[in-house]
Amino acid sequence: MSKKRRIVIALGGNALGNTLPEQMAAVKITAKAIVDLIEEGCEVVVAHGNGPQVGMVNNAMIALTHEDAQQPNTPLSVCVAMSQAYIGYDLQNALREELLNRGIEDIPVATMITQVRVDEYDPAFQSPSKPIGRFVDEAQAKIMEENFHYVMKEDSGRGWRRVVASPKPVEIVEIGTIRTMVNSGSLVIACGGGGIPVTRQGNHLKGASAVIDKDFASCLLAKELDADYLIILTAVEKVALNFGKPDEKWLEDVSVEEAEQYIKEGHFAPGSMLPKVEAAVEFAGSKPGRTALITLLEKSRDAIQGRTGTMFHK
Ligand code: ADP
Ligand code: MG
Repeated sequence: MSKKRRIVIALGGNALGNTLPEQMAAVKITAKAIVDLIEEGCEVVVAHGNGPQVGMVNNAMIALTHEDAQQPNTPLSVCVAMSQAYIGYDLQNALREELLNRGIEDIPVATMITQVRVDEYDPAFQSPSKPIGRFVDEAQAKIMEENFHYVMKEDSGRGWRRVVASPKPVEIVEIGTIRTMVNSGSLVIACGGGGIPVTRQGNHLKGASAVIDKDFASCLLAKELDADYLIILTAVEKVALNFGKPDEKWLEDVSVEEAEQYIKEGHFAPGSMLPKVEAAVEFAGSKPGRTALITLLEKSRDAIQGRTGTMFHK
């Protein structure tokens, strides 16, 4: 029997929805797409984003401080941990059910609460860029700056929002456990929301006020697990040059060199498509035989068969 293809899937916002009921519905569709790949003979590891969910948890924890003056503010790292557990709970239930519905009874499903180490001297800490949570007015923003030591920024005329650093992932702390579970045939959900950001202080891991990009964390996970594929599932079927312009051109097959050139030419929006293409290039360029794909959730089976999506190779 030939070796199974190992795939790390990075789920984007549209795979999880924005609210509790939306997530409950979305994970059912997501689970179908993932189990399709398992039926294709692939070994799948799931990573995911957490934008709306971590915002929701963060707001709920702020509300708690208004209700009860004894409650200190909840660190962002704890909010990420809460979002991992909440999303993992819905995903692992939906995956278990879908596997059983198809008569697959020998694949246990588990979520790994994952810490990801970042460099405390990462320049990203000096220029927080990622907006999280709700919009507030200027007076409220000043109170949050003073009470919680948040960095607040005005966001294009829409109000003030907290911004946090988005440092690069350096090390997946629980990688040994994740690898053992994957090698023993479990379907593992890991690195949720890019992982809980931590810095190392001797043997102590300290939670950082940051959000790690899930595309970069998934790339690191795929490299560490020596995956054959990194599949980034998002809201578009393919990546485009001149996206949204009259001369838009959808890409099917791209070499690492071509993609690097397109990055330089500014074809991919920072904060949305750029980190995905950078992660795809990093993975595909890291070792011969590694392939990255960017496509729609519903198209993942077609994409793995080479019928759609944008493929990145060395
Ligand atoms: P996710 O939640 O999956 O991370 P994002 O919204 O962050 O999704 O990123 C995907 C979005 O990037 C697409 O829906 C599309 O609107 C946008 N985008 C920006 N530049 C491009 C491009 N060159 N080609 C395709 N999509 C692009
Ligand atoms: Mg994104």
